[in-house]
Amino acid sequence: MAAGWKVGGYAYWGVTGPHPMVCPCGTPMELLLAIRPTEHGGTRSWIPLEDEVLNPTHVSVGRGGTFNVFVCPADPAHDHRTSLQG
Ligand SMILES: [Zn+2]
Repeated sequence: MAAGWKVGGYAYWGVTGPHPMVCPCGTPMELLLAIRPTEHGGTRSWIPLEDEVLNPTHVSVGRGGTFNVFVCPADPAHDHRTSLQG
């Protein structure tokens, strides 16, 4: 499994433990995007040899945390919510 940045799937809750993200319309929200400290999430074993660059995006979130962006599946025009896990 490739760690690091991803679209969809499950959020990273390493600090607080799982927390329900609910839109003000009452719909449980889904993970849209997770941004990790590096594109590879600290593991490099799955990276093709020609792509071995630690952080090709040069994006850093907080002090090395993971930034989760959630979206409302009922209506994408509803505001997004975020969670920063250190
Ligand atoms: Zn909503």
